Amino acid sequence: MKICVLPGDGIGPEITAEAVRVLKALDLKFEMEEALLGGCAVDATGNPYPEATQKLAREADAIMLGAVGGPQWDSLPREKRPERGLLGIRKDLNLFANLRPAILYPELANASTLKAEVVAGLDILIVRELTGDIYFGQPRGVREENGERVGFNTMVYSESEIRRIGHVAFQAAQKRNKRLCSVDKMNVLECTQLWRDVMIEVSKDYPDVELSHMLVDNAAMQLVKAPKQFDVMVTGNMFGDILSDEASMLTGSIGMLPSASLDDRNKGLYEPSHGSAPDIAGKGVANPLATILSAAMLLRYTFGLEEQALRVENAVKTVLAQGFRTGDIYERGTTKVGTREMGDAVLAALA
Ligand code: NAD
Repeated sequence: MKICVLPGDGIGPEITAEAVRVLKALDLKFEMEEALLGGCAVDATGNPYPEATQKLAREADAIMLGAVGGPQWDSLPREKRPERGLLGIRKDLNLFANLRPAILYPELANASTLKAEVVAGLDILIVRELTGDIYFGQPRGVREENGERVGFNTMVYSESEIRRIGHVAFQAAQKRNKRLCSVDKMNVLECTQLWRDVMIEVSKDYPDVELSHMLVDNAAMQLVKAPKQFDVMVTGNMFGDILSDEASMLTGSIGMLPSASLDDRNKGLYEPSHGSAPDIAGKGVANPLATILSAAMLLRYTFGLEEQALRVENAVKTVLAQGFRTGDIYERGTTKVGTREMGDAVLAALA
């Protein structure tokens, strides 16, 4: 069982270290090796996804990633930016299915900016297509036209790309409450009319799952108005990018939310849903729980170790019940801890 560890930039190394400690504590004989991705890779090699990392990532069964990016790399040419490394590894490994659960732990009901009754008990799963859409479509660029600059990108999805993410979403819904909401913008975009048509076709294979459709603007609204109406949502890369961040905020902290990006053989890249948080990097205050929960997803989805995954998730529930909180989820009456102390508490709960 080989895991490639990519700590990345900003708070990445701090939070990844805690997830690695948790994985090691399980005593499962993982082979773990570190490599560079993102800004740190640009600094060391000039390439955000260097060859050595490509080799290691391709050989590994799973990849554990912190986060990439930071203001010091924002002015580099686009192909040298850290985010290119992230898009590159997703595309290289064909990680087309991004699974992002948004769960509100009862202890954190007050951390949400929404009323507790709107979000208490929230448990939704957003399935986002990750390797297509306007983020990868060609042509793209900025050109001169009639004496001014014109920017352009291309939204593109093939039938087969929609179909394979559809299957992932329907199967995820089968394991949950059997309701799937597909999000598109078919009233304006032909590309997403195809999305809707193909989802309807795929639904024929899953008669036990109830399929519904929602336009993305309404979905953004419904997520804050009545989020508990959703079980599983499936959408394209760009809409999913935005909606999954919105859903994560329903839970109060982006520091709590894991994610998995899978290929068609359950090889996966596991990372927290948040970014590299440059504002708190190096201070030892970042919340490592999203990364630790991503490690639990790694155990479940790539290695099929459901029992160990539950052990880690239960340890996280225990530390929350014990009142340990990093700054992002802190409220009066709880115990404020740093990144390492939170990791210590999870390890203690595991033991
Ligand atoms: P961000 O998620 O890094 O930070 C947003 C806010 O949430 C910040 O105030 C930050 O301090 C806080 N935060 C995030 N994670 C936290 C944690 N674990 N514990 C406590 N607080 C946490 O988003 P941003 O500020 O928009 O982006 C910063 C950089 O990260 C940018 O360079 C961006 O491109 C990059 N980014 C990377 C990824 C990724 O690697 N997958 C995702 C999103 C953004």
